[in-house]
Amino acid sequence: MIKTIKKENRSFRFDPNVPPVLTVSSGETVCFETQDCYDGQIDVDSKDFALLDMNRNNPITGPLFVSGAHPGDTLRIDILDIIPDDHGAMCIRTGKGIYEVEGCHCRRFPISGGRILFDHGIEIPIRPMVGVIGTCPAASCGTHAPGEHGGNLDIRDLGIGSSIYLPVNVPGALLSIGDCHAVQGDGETAICGLEICASVIVRVSVVKEALPTPFIETADSIYTAASDESLDIAAVNAARKMHRYLVESTELSDSQAAMLLSLAGDLRISQVVNPLKGAVMQFPKKYRQAMPK
Ligand code: CA
Ligand code: CA
Repeated sequence: MIKTIKKENRSFRFDPNVPPVLTVSSGETVCFETQDCYDGQIDVDSKDFALLDMNRNNPITGPLFVSGAHPGDTLRIDILDIIPDDHGAMCIRTGKGIYEVEGCHCRRFPISGGRILFDHGIEIPIRPMVGVIGTCPAASCGTHAPGEHGGNLDIRDLGIGSSIYLPVNVPGALLSIGDCHAVQGDGETAICGLEICASVIVRVSVVKEALPTPFIETADSIYTAASDESLDIAAVNAARKMHRYLVESTELSDSQAAMLLSLAGDLRISQVVNPLKGAVMQFPKKYRQAMPK
């Protein structure tokens, strides 16, 4: 039976003083049962926003202690599966997200047969992803901002079959996961994805390779990510991280790496709605694999 962290083990901060709820060895598989970002409060469609306690926003499940993870190491997390609940929720309101929308709107949509049953007969295939995943920083921080430790990344490519590399800042890494989405578009423009409770099954491995975190790998791409109050700065930093990585880890010169990224790299907006906006540089693995140092 797979080791499981129940969603009752949730908190609202990455905090090195929160005791771990489970300890595993490097290479083990663990299930994180995650609460949705509203802490399950949107329990009916068209829920009255005034009834929501927004202090309960963005809970994370954990923390997980990984034996042998020491500060300076890197934790690789393989996302093996994300099993969504049979419904999801969204909440949008004036002043949040990038649209001019009047009022507060809390909705709940069913998920059936791998599809979201939206209004007007529109059905959207699910593409489950993890919104918040992070190792604990040395100093406590909230769950709303993204950073080098991961956190509220909201990168839609962080789905089933992807891997993310995060820094180990404290003994055991203290990994936590939350805020899954059944689907989310680039930008997360209205402030949320289809927010779901989910069972996230991951394999955690301690690796010694130093990577520019958060670093993501999918079947065909690698990604560097950066966040900042300014989307311009986040975008430049995400791209420069990939450039530096290619120059340091391959035989490409700086000018060759720059040209290659301009031809084959995709600089994408991950989200524009968190306290720090996020961008990713996506690069095809096939070119990286063709030129190891
Ligand atoms: Ca989020
Ligand atoms: Ca979310």
